Amino acid sequence: MTTDSGTKGEQAMNWQDKGPATAAIRAGEPRSAQGEHSEALYLTSSFVFESAAQAAARFAGDEPGNVYARYTNPTVSTFEQRLALMEGTEAAVGTSSGMAAILSTCMALLQQGDHIIASRNIFGSTTVLFNKYLGRFGVDVTYVDLTDLDAWAAAFTPRTRLLFAETPSNPLNDVVDIRQLADLAHAHDAWLAIDNCFCTPILQRPAEYGADLVIHSATKFIDGQGRAMGGAVCGRQEQIEEVVGFLRSAGPTMSPFNAWVFLKGLETLQVRMRAHSEHAMQLARWLQQHSMVETVHYCGLPEHPGHALASRQQSGFGGVLSFVVRGGQPAAWHVIDATQFLSITANLGDAKTTITHPATTTHGRLSDEDKVAAGIEPGLIRVAVGLEDPEDIQQDLARGLDSL
Ligand SMILES: *Cc1c(COP(=O)(O)O)cnc(C)c1O
Repeated sequence: MTTDSGTKGEQAMNWQDKGPATAAIRAGEPRSAQGEHSEALYLTSSFVFESAAQAAARFAGDEPGNVYARYTNPTVSTFEQRLALMEGTEAAVGTSSGMAAILSTCMALLQQGDHIIASRNIFGSTTVLFNKYLGRFGVDVTYVDLTDLDAWAAAFTPRTRLLFAETPSNPLNDVVDIRQLADLAHAHDAWLAIDNCFCTPILQRPAEYGADLVIHSATKFIDGQGRAMGGAVCGRQEQIEEVVGFLRSAGPTMSPFNAWVFLKGLETLQVRMRAHSEHAMQLARWLQQHSMVETVHYCGLPEHPGHALASRQQSGFGGVLSFVVRGGQPAAWHVIDATQFLSITANLGDAKTTITHPATTTHGRLSDEDKVAAGIEPGLIRVAVGLEDPEDIQQDLARGLDSL
């Protein structure tokens, strides 16, 4: 991770001493002999050797170097090095999607009989993965309210190996104290994994607060323009080696092409996350004063229960907010359908603003009781605020809100 990405190869830079934006733009594998300025895209599945002896040494792991892109690829390695530096972890590994990152973490680090404690409001597919698939292999999960530390503490069994949380939560922006959760995990010989998709390392670095594993869907803010699927797991060297071991045998590795797209995404991540946060703050304030809006859930607002903690733990409040309109589901659907350019889609982290009705889409599988418990009201709308002019985003929402 001290490689110089410049042609001035004699000067080995230590990117660890630099800020996250610098690492995101400069760190990685050395330039090729062509002296390209933008990172090379190594769209190759295999690598050639100088001799049979070298091939044997590479296969045996006696000599470092690339063998096959399911194991390593220089474009993917550059992405991994940058992300690890940005998260402040020893290592990172790219995966084919965010779900592949979560699956690979569990497959590599858990075994039959292990127990997971997870926050209730995690990403829907993560819940399906845990309940339907890990359950089949004898790993079971207990769900608790993200912010209820007593419930986390009470859920431990002698078999608990992993705590899994998303903070801020989707879509209500609840925030948990990562340090307290990490201490709790470590007191029970368990690991804490944080899905850091909403914040990215620009706004929150969970490892600084003791999280053992930081998981990403690169599909979201890291790409930032809704193009490619990918994910990553960041953590200590020995853990990441285990995850790499699973990936190279099982195959959900990151494509070099996608890694190249994500590299370009990382280069602008800092300015984008600041802009997403600013736009979301502006929209939250505007929604708050609208007579047809009952509540706004955004941890940037001083009234939000997680505001003080988010102010300490995060360096920005992020681009996702939700709000409840008066009039329940018909009113929410009216506001969504009245928009002219906001995209009706559950994706997030895009330059394009997206709008979702959680109760009938992302959280549609929950029973009515569970929806109430999770705060997924019929009138709730989630907006992943993009990079369009904030006034235009407001106007597009005002069309429906003003005509309710
Ligand atoms: C999208 C998402 C995932 C899954 O990522 P994919 O790249 O879609 O597989 C996991 N966690 C969170 C919080 C997400 O938003």
